[in-house]
Amino acid sequence: MALNDKPCGTCQHFDPVLRGTNKGHRPTVWGWCAKKSVYPFAEGPGQKFPDGVQKVPSPEMRAEPFMVRVMECQNNCTEHAPRMPGLSKVDLLKKMNEQNRKPGVSTNG
Ligand code: SF4
Repeated sequence: MALNDKPCGTCQHFDPVLRGTNKGHRPTVWGWCAKKSVYPFAEGPGQKFPDGVQKVPSPEMRAEPFMVRVMECQNNCTEHAPRMPGLSKVDLLKKMNEQNRKPGVSTNG
């Protein structure tokens, strides 16, 4: 099988690590591979996990991130999938925060 020659940042499974700035969230060069990581039991406040990720089975257990960098290729990866058009994680969190601030909008399910 051919080696993967596409950087993780072009992959649908790249889940960028964000840092907060005074202008909102900004992506770093790091990300979790959503396909190969085991995420925490539940999302914390202001967090959004990618759909369908594997999570630890109990809140006491530690997550097992598989860290990747945006410009690096995981040559042995057979899971690369081209990134689909859609909201970036930064835009998604911004939208969630805006919805939570709207009066009369419930965030309880
Ligand atoms: S390790 Fe593979 S599946 Fe994960 S982000 Fe990189 S290319 Fe995608």
